[in-house]
Amino acid sequence: MKIALLSRNGKLYSTRRLVEAAEARGHQIEVVDVLRCYMNIAPNCTEIHYRGRKLEGFDAVIPRIGASVTFYGTAVVRQFEMMGTYSVNESQAITRSRDKLRAHQLLARHGIGMPITGFAHSPDDTKDLMSLVGKAPLVIKLIEGTQGQGVVLAETDQAAESVIDAFRGLDAYFLVQDFVAEAKGADIRCFVIGNKVVAAMMRQAKSGEFRSNLHRGGTALAVKLTPDERRTAIEAAKAMGLNIAGVDILRSNKGPVVMEVNSSPGLEGIETVTQIDIADRIIEFIENNARQGRTKTRGK
Ligand code: ADP
Ligand code: GLU
Repeated sequence: MKIALLSRNGKLYSTRRLVEAAEARGHQIEVVDVLRCYMNIAPNCTEIHYRGRKLEGFDAVIPRIGASVTFYGTAVVRQFEMMGTYSVNESQAITRSRDKLRAHQLLARHGIGMPITGFAHSPDDTKDLMSLVGKAPLVIKLIEGTQGQGVVLAETDQAAESVIDAFRGLDAYFLVQDFVAEAKGADIRCFVIGNKVVAAMMRQAKSGEFRSNLHRGGTALAVKLTPDERRTAIEAAKAMGLNIAGVDILRSNKGPVVMEVNSSPGLEGIETVTQIDIADRIIEFIENNARQGRTKTRGK
């Protein structure tokens, strides 16, 4: 097969591993910087150009679209879909999971566990919104945040109100959630490929921190999932329409609750901790599923 790996940086661990895995399985793979793709949009003539040449003959695309380039990156994926090229995660699914409000609504619609979550537009509704979600401590999250940035724990109602006011002052959208204290600063990253969880790790926040992101100094260890956790991760990925997803779960008193579904989950931490060759499993999945024209949406 001929595979395009959409990534801004060929030196990243995940990019390198996917290239290695594809080549080891006998495929041709090219790393394509999504921001250097330019496109011809015309009836019956859909093209993608890259550094002075036309991108042609690809059987599959692996999109690894950073949060800051979602808008342009998904347009490029959509263009591939219009050409009938199979994208392992489709543009629609990436867009769904990137919009945290939409993603939470979809998870709720599918009956998937999540912390009680509220959002509102008008400052006049702050108090009511807080009472919908429950008593402090509350977690307040910027919609646009990644890697734990813009995720704040407010210990008292008064602190919650101040944070909400501050976020509003920045004209930023945010979610208010009940704080899952019983997770004790640990979350579980489930790596989903197709209908399977192929690897999982627990990330423990450093002491004095409730956010378990590795970027925030968390440490990772192997973990055994319960059947309920496994099912929740698979259903969350399915709700977004993602074939490849990193589903972040907290162990709450009500069972597993989903924090986030990541459409470009990193390989480094989880391959290192579990010693599972996830890159190889991704390429194998593509071998079994990539067919010309087999995109659900064809860019619609
Ligand atoms: P990001 O997308 O920036 O990683 P998350 O929503 O995943 O933001 O939050 C970052 C981390 O903060 C989570 O991995 C988790 O450890 C912690 N966290 C987030 N929300 C809650 C919550 N409602 N209760 C307890 N811990 C939370
Ligand atoms: N893309 C990285 C990952 O999936 C970062 C996401 C995060 O920090 O939550 O691990």
